[in-house]
Amino acid sequence: MAEYAKVIVDISQEKLDKTFEYRIPPYLTQRITVGMQVYIPFGSRRITGYVVELSDEAEYDEDKLKNIAGIVTDSVPIESHLIALAGWMREHYGGTMNQALKMVLPIKEKKKAVEHKRVRLALHPVEAKNQLGAYERRHSTARARLLRALLEEEELDWDLVTHKLGVSGSVIRAMEESGVVKVIRETQYRNPVSHLTSRGYGLTLNDEQQEAVDAVWSDYEKGIRSTYLIKGVTGSGKTEVYMELIAKMQKAGRQAIVLIPEIALTYQTVLRFYNRFGDRVSILNSRMSPGERYDQFLRAKNGEIDVMIGPRSALFTPFANLGLIIIDEEHETSYKSETVPRYHARETAIARAAMLDASVVLGSATPSVDSYYRAKRGEYRLLTLTKRVKERPLPACGVVDLRQELREGNRSILSRRLDGLMEQRLRAGEQTMLFINRRGVAGFVSCRACGHVIKCPHCDVSLSQHANGRMVCHYCGYTEPVPVQCPACGSKYISGFKAGTEKIEMVVRKRFPEARVLRMDMDTTRGKEDYEQILSAFANHEADILIGTQMIVKGHDFPDVTLVGVLAADLSLHVGDYRAAERTFQLLTQAAGRAGRGNKPGEVVIQTYDPEHYSIETAKAQDYDAFYEQEIAYRKIMLYPPVWNMLVILCASKSEEAADAMAAELAAAADAYTGKNTKEKVYLVGPVDAAIAKVNDIYKKIIYLKAENYDTLVKIKNRTEVYARESRYYKNVTVMFDFNPVNG
Ligand code: ADP
Ligand code: ZN
Ligand code: ZN
Repeated sequence: MAEYAKVIVDISQEKLDKTFEYRIPPYLTQRITVGMQVYIPFGSRRITGYVVELSDEAEYDEDKLKNIAGIVTDSVPIESHLIALAGWMREHYGGTMNQALKMVLPIKEKKKAVEHKRVRLALHPVEAKNQLGAYERRHSTARARLLRALLEEEELDWDLVTHKLGVSGSVIRAMEESGVVKVIRETQYRNPVSHLTSRGYGLTLNDEQQEAVDAVWSDYEKGIRSTYLIKGVTGSGKTEVYMELIAKMQKAGRQAIVLIPEIALTYQTVLRFYNRFGDRVSILNSRMSPGERYDQFLRAKNGEIDVMIGPRSALFTPFANLGLIIIDEEHETSYKSETVPRYHARETAIARAAMLDASVVLGSATPSVDSYYRAKRGEYRLLTLTKRVKERPLPACGVVDLRQELREGNRSILSRRLDGLMEQRLRAGEQTMLFINRRGVAGFVSCRACGHVIKCPHCDVSLSQHANGRMVCHYCGYTEPVPVQCPACGSKYISGFKAGTEKIEMVVRKRFPEARVLRMDMDTTRGKEDYEQILSAFANHEADILIGTQMIVKGHDFPDVTLVGVLAADLSLHVGDYRAAERTFQLLTQAAGRAGRGNKPGEVVIQTYDPEHYSIETAKAQDYDAFYEQEIAYRKIMLYPPVWNMLVILCASKSEEAADAMAAELAAAADAYTGKNTKEKVYLVGPVDAAIAKVNDIYKKIIYLKAENYDTLVKIKNRTEVYARESRYYKNVTVMFDFNPVNG
């Protein structure tokens, strides 16, 4: 039984915007749970707060702790669970309680739900006939018309009355006021899946799938709650495993949340869930209005649905009896929030599940190195699906060395091999996808003759080229000028890589004028439906070639795609982020997975300047474990997450002076605190200029901290947060915290 509780105080005052620790008196230990509202002594007063965390050990001086004074009510309403979760997020990711509450309780944006209205006769028919006579004598024709209609049919739809009978809303309301008719109002929540039709369901799981289901379910029945990682190649039937588990939860009276990256949340996916769970499932997506989103949360809270599918924010669905949180494609970076609090959906899901006695299932064909590391250490339970359900072979995968292309005189972005295969596909009436894994604005600098990439001598990540003509390390601020010739081979073909999707489209159209070409990137998917439209046009074979960024590797099945070309696999390899190799391996594996989904076998061509890099070699061999072994060795040597943890403190201000001063204060505070209070080694680098040191006249300064234990960094964050609030620069400087950032 826990002896101490962290409580978030129920007053909106920024100074109190932190959790306070209290002792739980023995007579209350059996009753107190997370999310519960409690009375606490606070100064000379007694106030209320929410229990955010329980522990067996006091973090602060045990002698100074006060006792919790009592329980407000034993029941824990759904909202207070979410408030507790917000408290946890505030504590673990920084920011204010208000910011965290906005994230978990989207209630403030309430919009009126659609009302369904019907009009009824309020009078006895005999009286109604008298009234009708009165209307006719007064020539109140509209009123007479409605009354006549209501004498024939006892109830009419509001829309029918206003449109077909031509009786205005104000007339109906006036008749209602004089007691002639009655308007029945029913709130109708918008149901985003109401237009679908279920096709029913009938599938038998194969042995591997059944084993995965049994592993989770037998734990559940024994009262064991855990986090499971399902590693299963694309098409191995993970989604079926999720659905089976949800069905079991549903029978046990518990609900489930399914997180899917927005980009993979397609009509096909939703339909699969709808076929199985019908009206008991709902979805969230960013195209919905705040009102629609709010309605879905309300339906969940009212018990009208059991399954919520959506991106990151669906995690906060207020189910009364949540039993299972599933995170599909768990390696996706979109699960990390880029606004404060910068929470990670995976960690937050695990925290929420722990508060509610629920289980968490993570799934991916290429698990994040973080999750696989935890699974290997026994923190998560690993379940694997090795076989593709339909026994389709994985596509053949070849690597083209772009340095050699250059040596042999080909300067096109299309290698001779890819060019030849594209021509073949066009003639055979099959489809090709060309993929360029471009992200971020700052580019790396590499040699097109030998492939050499300029790296930081301290951090072993690529330096990024900035507008000022220098290259910068995103982790330590190290900087040097862009060289005029390659330090490795002396070639002057050294520069940033510039080709984007538009350039590729031009090249392809020129080379294959007869081909129908579609392009998908940020520019062509501005509108709400653009994304879905381009993909379905391609799925319907309305084009021969689809060119795009990582957007195209998800979502639809394209049975006629038999060739996938990755144009410059290195692009994601040198983005100045310690996760670059991981991202590259994932993207290549997923891109390869797009080839040969139909009956014809597929082929993949990976073009690169760095064919020996392990992320490319292992992706070619489609060997996740070989990739992981190399990658974790690198993380261990460099003390990068998940082996160690990282905290980035960002100070942003219009005044460079203020940003510098605040950053210096915080670095000193963190350093002093670290020396005294943490037993373990903590590395501190900075303050340094951020990668993009000035955006819209805002100066950005950064401090990096690395420590083995996450909790140590949380303590440092708490300490520096207090310092920041008390600093005289606080008014002018925004201070942000980011744990284990996903974008370097
Ligand atoms: P994943 O989520 O791992 O990519 P899916 O669950 O989408 O895999 O399964 C891939 C395809 O195989 C889907 O069309 C699905 O309906 C089908 N499938 C999955 N499990 C079975 C099964 N046990 N029997 C028959 N078909 C299955
Ligand atoms: Zn070179
Ligand atoms: Zn560096």
